[in-house]
Amino acid sequence: MYNKDHLQKIKQELLQLRGEILENARKSHAESLSLGNDGVADIGDMSAKSYSQDVLMSLSQAQLSRIRDVDAALERIQQGGYGICVACEEEIAPRRLEVRPFSRYCIDCKEEYEKFGE
Ligand SMILES: [Zn+2]
Repeated sequence: MYNKDHLQKIKQELLQLRGEILENARKSHAESLSLGNDGVADIGDMSAKSYSQDVLMSLSQAQLSRIRDVDAALERIQQGGYGICVACEEEIAPRRLEVRPFSRYCIDCKEEYEKFGE
């Protein structure tokens, strides 16, 4: 299983991924705000805590579900179930987690649950 250092690294990756998604949403939100506003976007405070409800509202469905996946993975790191398939409780292949660190299902279950998204 994963030792603390490894989990810490995965956690950083997940947080970064989450930040990138929010940053993209913030940018496109700023662009939409800038329309009819002399073309100057209100970039505002750069801190993560500054993400307003508006920005969250401007997330696409795919971005939103990705953030949920990332949050769920962070929670599993916190609670100690990270890397375990939530369906069959088998270990998820490390190579799969390398590509998709927020994976909830092992590859077998993923195929089975494909229609529900990941
Ligand atoms: Zn499984």
